[in-house]
Amino acid sequence: MARMTEDQMSAIVTMASALDGQIVSESKVMMWLEMLGDYKYEECVKAIIPACKEHPAGLVTAKGIWEQVRRERSYPGHRDWVEDLHNMGEHFECRSGEFGCR
Ligand SMILES: [Zn+2]
Repeated sequence: MARMTEDQMSAIVTMASALDGQIVSESKVMMWLEMLGDYKYEECVKAIIPACKEHPAGLVTAKGIWEQVRRERSYPGHRDWVEDLHNMGEHFECRSGEFGCR
C-alpha cells in the first residue's frame, strides 16, 4: 500500500491545528508522517475530530489519531449513538474495548 504523501499529511496537520490551535511545522508533518503514513488519508481525516474530543486538553496528537484509526478498523462504522450512551453511563450496547469500555 502506498504511503501517504507529505502534502496529504500537511493537510491533516493543518486541519488538526485549526481545531487545537497548535502550530503547523515541517518537523511536525514529518513526525506525523512517520507515525501515520501507512494509513489512508481519509481514515486519518475522519479520526481528527474524535481524537480531539477524546484528548483531555482537546489536543489532536498523532497518537490520538492512530488510536482512532485502529479503533475504527476494529469496529467499522463508528456508532455515535452508542458512544453518546456510553458517555452517559449506559453500556448495554458497548462492545468490549469500544470507546475504551470494559
Ligand atoms: Zn461503555
